[in-house]
Amino acid sequence: GSLLVAEGLRKAYGPTMALDGAEFSIHPGEVVAVMGPSGSGKSTLLHCLAGIVTPDSGSIMYDGQDLATMSDAQRSRLRRSDFGFVFQFGQLVPELTCVENVALPLRLNGAPRKQAERTALEWMQRLEVDDLGRKRPGEVSGGQGQRVAVARSLVTDPRVLFADEPTGALDSLNGERVMELLTEAARSANAAVVLVTHEARVAAYSDREIVVRDGKSRDMERVI
Ligand code: ADP
Ligand code: ADP
Repeated sequence: GSLLVAEGLRKAYGPTMALDGAEFSIHPGEVVAVMGPSGSGKSTLLHCLAGIVTPDSGSIMYDGQDLATMSDAQRSRLRRSDFGFVFQFGQLVPELTCVENVALPLRLNGAPRKQAERTALEWMQRLEVDDLGRKRPGEVSGGQGQRVAVARSLVTDPRVLFADEPTGALDSLNGERVMELLTEAARSANAAVVLVTHEARVAAYSDREIVVRDGKSRDMERVI
């Protein structure tokens, strides 16, 4: 069955219909690309699926639970335990070293420092940035920083990784390397990936595409 399913999502910002009947579904371990032009509603869809934005109407079911019936506290607990996030940029804490950044979600969950940093380094090895452990985010390149961010997003073993334009700030070579390592690492952890992008080259790393236009989404598999 599906891990995350949304139907009939509507979300208005004043007169702007950001979502106007969007649908979505993803199976465990699947990589789904959410594509569409700028302003079509991709980020709003991702934020609704992740329980960050509440839609005006429609339903979102995660692992058989209706997000709408959960309290804010339950949704935020779900985000910490089951979801991981990667954004375009600006997500690493500049005062912490790279390994401290990756270990942070485990530390916040109460893990002792040594144990958290050992697990962090394992993830950094998979993303091929374990040699950057002692550097701070300001001392590494954009591509390296994104790989550190991917390691941090997976360190808690999430079941869904939400990635919003994860390569948007990178050149195409670094972008492809990040996508290769991100999808490899997610597959090895059996995490599903919701990948928001407007680039076909990035979407090529997915198993399936969902196209958003004017707040309406289409599952390309069902259309074809
Ligand atoms: P995309 O990610 O495809 O670029 P978005 O989901 O960011 O699209 O935005 C969809 C539409 O909703 C756009 O017209 C955008 O300007 C509008 N929008 C998104 N978030 C907000 C917000 N917080 N306040 C007002 N308008 C918003
Ligand atoms: P890279 O290609 O090194 O992985 P980006 O593609 O994000 O990183 O690089 C975008 C631009 O930012 C490039 O011109 C690069 O030289 C510059 N840049 C990369 N890392 C840093 C940094 N730590 N400080 C300042 N500029 C940087």
